[in-house]
Amino acid sequence: MKKRIAILGSTGSIGVQALNVIRNHKELFEVEVLTAHSNYTRLIEQAIEFKPNTVVITQKEYYSKVQEALSKYDIKVFAGEDSMADVMEMTTIDIVLTAVVGFAGLKPTLRAIENGKTIALANKETMVVAGKLVTDLAREKNVAILPVDSEHSAIFQCLAGETFNAIDRLLLTASGGPFFGKTLDYLKGVTVADALKHPNWVMGRKVTIDSATLMNKGLEVIEAKWLFNVRPEQIEVVVHPQSIVHSLVEFQDGSIKAQLGLPSMELPIQYAFSYPLRISSNLPKFNFANYSQLSFYEPDRKTFPCLDLAYTAMNRGGNMPCIMNAANEIAVQSFIEEKIAFVDIPNLIGNIMDNSGCFMENPTLEDLLKTDSEMRIKAQEWIDNKRN
Ligand code: NDP
Ligand code: MG
Repeated sequence: MKKRIAILGSTGSIGVQALNVIRNHKELFEVEVLTAHSNYTRLIEQAIEFKPNTVVITQKEYYSKVQEALSKYDIKVFAGEDSMADVMEMTTIDIVLTAVVGFAGLKPTLRAIENGKTIALANKETMVVAGKLVTDLAREKNVAILPVDSEHSAIFQCLAGETFNAIDRLLLTASGGPFFGKTLDYLKGVTVADALKHPNWVMGRKVTIDSATLMNKGLEVIEAKWLFNVRPEQIEVVVHPQSIVHSLVEFQDGSIKAQLGLPSMELPIQYAFSYPLRISSNLPKFNFANYSQLSFYEPDRKTFPCLDLAYTAMNRGGNMPCIMNAANEIAVQSFIEEKIAFVDIPNLIGNIMDNSGCFMENPTLEDLLKTDSEMRIKAQEWIDNKRN
């Protein structure tokens, strides 16, 4: 039986790489659902190639274009964010790859878990804002959440066969992004184009900017806490500019296991799809002779304050990671639109976290939805005040 896969966000960087994996393993996987937000032309091309049962375009104004282009195929077309969550009830889906960006991933992920679907989790923001709700529901429904983020996939792979062995430490590697080794003064003058030049990975714009600020690593620290059920003080970050060691686990005997490979998201995506099996891949093989040195450094927490903001949010718990995430999503978008400077990003997030006025220890889903929308408005006001 082929595994039937739904890809939420098929037109993005992760979505396209997931379709490469499926194209290379047609005997094992088939596409059941594809969703896109605005890139209807790519969605149409993907649908014609992979013939899914259903596609969803979340920006409703593109519905008729998609519907028309696919009318001669046996493919159902829906529009809107609610439809993306509704199709998670389809009984013909085995695995849901959550590859949309940002808070928008939360509702469909919860619906997929409610309906017993295995989750291949790329959308880290979902775990950051609602880690407790998501993991509690997954436990209740006996649903597996398989990590796709390369660091978490590495840790997951290191933990295979270690069910009864307690973890001492998780070491998440970080490339350091395009501004590794730079000073605060240098960061004051960087442009959007500078921040989008990631040294090792080609990714969507939001996660690329998050990598440049180190917020990406902060989000991943929180993601790791929930995925692997560890205490905050057990999670450390190590800067490793070559991005070959994807992350490490230390056990109580002091032994450290790591997972290594050339940087490619196709491997962790494929592992989540084929788990618990490993299957062949046509990715280039690692050659040790090309890497005479692998280096490791402490993160520069002063120059890149977003990492500590994430630790603060994680330690505070409740809806604080949701507050932080909302401020970060607005900050990154505004930086991309050249409305604020790169160094304003952590200032804005810190300010919103300090002055949220809405901290809650045990938020419900409704509380998180409210927190997210209120904090987006507050972050926008901060930006408007700064510009006036
Ligand atoms: P992209 O920006 O490349 O793609 C995002 C996808 O989500 C697109 O299909 C986009 O549709 C869709 N989308 C955007 N906004 C919405 C919305 N409001 N509602 C529904 N769909 C939406 O992002 P990436 O692929 O880079 O990242 C996706 C997720 O995976 C992120 O959470 C990121 O942190 C995580 N991740 C990414 C990695 C990478 O290498 N790229 C590595 C590890 C994690 P459209 O294009 O049609 O507008
Ligand atoms: Mg990552």
